[in-house]
Parts: sequence; structure tokens; C-alpha cells
Amino acid sequence: MSGSRPTARRIIGIETEYGITCASGTAGPPPMDADQAARALFDPIIQRGRSSNVFTRSGGRLYLDVGSHPEYATAECDRLEDLLAQDRAGDLIMADLADQANARLEDRGVTGRIHLLKNNLDAEGNGFGCHENYLVRRSGSFWQDAQTLVPHLVTRQILVGAGHIAPDARGRARYCFSQRADQTWEALSAATTRARPMINTRDEPHADAERYRRMHIIVGDSSIAQGSTLLKAGAMDLLLDYLESGGDLSDLALAEPMRAIREVSSDLRAAVALELADGRTITPVDLQHEHLERVTAHVQAELDPTDLQRQVLDLWGRGLEAVRSGRYEAVAAELDWAAKLQLLTRYTQRTGARLDDPRVARLALAYHDVTSGEGLRPRLERAGLLRRYIDQEACRAAVTRPPATTRARLRGAAVARAEDLRLDLSVDWVSLRLDDGVCRPVSLTDPFRAVDERVDALLAAMDDRGLDPGAGMRPA
Ligand code: ATP
Ligand code: MG
Ligand code: MG
Repeated sequence: MSGSRPTARRIIGIETEYGITCASGTAGPPPMDADQAARALFDPIIQRGRSSNVFTRSGGRLYLDVGSHPEYATAECDRLEDLLAQDRAGDLIMADLADQANARLEDRGVTGRIHLLKNNLDAEGNGFGCHENYLVRRSGSFWQDAQTLVPHLVTRQILVGAGHIAPDARGRARYCFSQRADQTWEALSAATTRARPMINTRDEPHADAERYRRMHIIVGDSSIAQGSTLLKAGAMDLLLDYLESGGDLSDLALAEPMRAIREVSSDLRAAVALELADGRTITPVDLQHEHLERVTAHVQAELDPTDLQRQVLDLWGRGLEAVRSGRYEAVAAELDWAAKLQLLTRYTQRTGARLDDPRVARLALAYHDVTSGEGLRPRLERAGLLRRYIDQEACRAAVTRPPATTRARLRGAAVARAEDLRLDLSVDWVSLRLDDGVCRPVSLTDPFRAVDERVDALLAAMDDRGLDPGAGMRPA
């Protein structure tokens, strides 16, 4: 039996920081360090717009901080289909930039190729992130919900962790669930670099602040498998709907979340006894199972789930069963940690290599390589070893097509028009401004609004200016 309403409409966006290296291909040292490679990657963008922070036709944001990791933040999505397509579009946009940069290097006679890695640790052990953003209503109980979600964030890695080889206490390599678990120091905080919280509580909604807040989750591994992205975002969306409808998870608060997140990561059976705030203990599998049962009951009582939401619930259950039984192959086409473990296990069985062998490390890295022609994902997807929920054509189309049902549609259209007509347009998440000294800026504080006559007028004004060779044109 199921209820009758869809889940509350919610904006979701994913930010991904990418690792970058330049491999020489010969025995010599790499021709560039990571900073230089990142600058080479962004060179044409900076040349074109005099900035390393630009919005794209997809409605997303491409960004390079000084000496940091290239980042893509997806446009605002309110359908899981769009989120999967936009997240992959980010990988494709980055891969296209790497292709162009590699062609320029080749022209200059540099023997080296830039690689982009969608993972969360560089060779020196420095971490970088993947943030999820979920719109919540200001009227709700933000702090309570944030606290309540901590046990989920601690334990969801047994499903949506990206898998990681790390030394145990005695220095022996072993496979754990997450790269990010050891990088987290606090549950909630408004500071990101110093405190490294699971949820960043800085109040920056990128929307009408009286109506909305943004749940900014900054603990979580970057995902390669679409199944991992789907389960990560889909489960959180359903949990938020459950909490907003009066649901309660507070009896499952953990006594020591920071200790628990590390313990969960390093126990592949997910059977470690975690202490709850009330003194009881629970295993990560059982805690997740509790969450799944409550969400499922909520869906049955109130919701009419979409096809992808049904798949979220199905994968959630199968993922837990795979962990419990140790038969991880059952979800190896859907969840990163299992897919990568299967790949590495087959390799070590075939070659006799151990987990700390450099060849195994290279294979693990190839799983995360999103550079065209270099990474394993396209091959695994073509062979059916990694499941595609959204086909490649739809993901490719999302590079230039923003989600149709959010304000990203308006932003994407304005960015495309400005690019075509070579006009200067200032863009952020909540506004569009044509730098002509005439048109008034358009503020887009309602992220759900995909149609707006003020933007139509802006597009028309851009067309007019585009026809007038003297006005607002940028040098080619
Ligand atoms: P930082 O990179 O320092 O973490 P940030 O999180 O504020 O900064 P961005 O990197 O620009 O900002 O990414 C913002 C993300 O939030 C995007 O993926 C975007 O789609 C999403 N987003 C925008 N508005 C909303 C909203 N009102 N609710 C939820 N998500 C939003
Ligand atoms: Mg960001
Ligand atoms: Mg962020």
C-alpha cells in the first residue's frame, strides 16, 4: 500500500572537488605540480572571462580557488534524474577541459598528461570534498534535524562510501568503506577548514533567507557509480521528508559520533558495536536498518514515490543485506565500495599481488579517474559491470541543458545567450546582471521558479545589445 503525495519538493545540488595530477608518462619527474596543472586546466576560462569562477550553460558553477582543487557545483535540481545527469555533466565538463589542456601541452612539446580524479585524498594524504546541499524550510527545526541526521552520516558509508585502502593499527593494508571518515573532526560547525564538520551550519541559503535554509552536508565520499549518488541523495531526501512530517530518529543518537565514524569505516562487516547516547549499543547495519524501516513505513503511509525513489529504497535494503552477509558482489554494479573491492579482489587473485602493492594502488586510482579515455568507469558501464540509471546521452545533453524545473533553467539560458553574443553577464546563485549600466539586475531568490518574465526581458535586452556592435561587447 502506498500514500498519495509526492515527497516535498526540494532543491538538491552536489559540489565536487577534483584531484588533479600531471603524469609524465616517462621515468622522469612530472612536468607540472598539481597547482600548475589546475591553472593549465582553467587557462582558457580565465582568458575568456578574466575569472576562475564561472557559471556554465548547465546552470552549474566551475571554480578554481588559489592553489586548490578544481570544483564543479551542479545546478539546483528538484528531480533525482536531473541530479544524476548534472553530476555526471560536471565530470564531462572537467574531462573536456583536461582534453583541451592536454592538447595544448602536446602542442608545446610537453610530455605529460593531466588526470582528473574524482576521489577525496591526494598522494600526500590531504583530503578534499564532495558537498551535498538540500533545501529545507526555515519554519522547520533546522538544528534538531541536523543533530538527528548525524548517526545517518556516520553510518551511511557502509552503503555509499567509495572504498579505500588504508593501513590498520599494525601498518597492514586493509580495505575500508570511506576515504573521508578519517578527515572529519566534528559533527556540526559553521567553520569548514578548521573544524571539518559533517554538516556545515553556516547560514547561507542561496535563496530567500526568510523562507529557506540550506542543509550543507560536507562529509561524504565523491561517487563514481550512479547507484552511490542515487542512494546518497535519495536516502537523505526521504529522511528529510520523514523528519519534516514529524518523524523521529532521536532515540538513535550516538554517544561519540567522531569515534564511531572511524570505527564504522574500518570494519567491513559493519558489525562493530556503536554506543548510543542512552547507553545501548547498535551495529552500523542495524542502525541503518532502523532508518530504512522508518522511512519505508513513512513512504507507505504518506507518499507516492517516483520510480527512482523506489529504487533508492530497494538499493538501500539490498546494500545492507550485502554488507550483513558479506556477499558484496550483490551490489558491485551499484555501490562504489563494492564495485572497487570486486575489481581489486579479482586483480589480487589473478596476480597474487597484495593490497599494498603499487599496482593495486594504481588500479584503485584508475577507478576514480574521470579523464576521457583514462578511467575505468566508461568501460565498466559499457560492460554492464556498473549500472547506468541515466544514459550517457542524457548526461552529455546536461552539459549544455540545465534542469528544466528550477531557476537553473533561467540561469543556464542567460549564460548561453551571453556566451553566444559575447556579452558580459555577472552571475551568482541568486542573481543575473548584464554589465551594460542600463538593465537592472534580476534577483532569483526563489530556487523553485523556472519561469520569470524579468529574465525574458533580460534575454531580449541581450539580443538587442548583441545586435549593436558598440555596446557591451567583449573582445574576442
Ligand atoms: P563552498 O564551495 O565554499 O562550500 P557553497 O557551498 O556556498 O561554498 P557552491 O560551491 O557555489 O557554494 O555550491 C552551492 C551548491 O548549492 C550548488 O550545488 C547549488 O546547486 C546548491 N544550491 C543553490 N541554492 C540552493 C538552495 N537554495 N538549496 C539547496 N541547494 C542549493
Ligand atoms: Mg563549493
Ligand atoms: Mg559547499
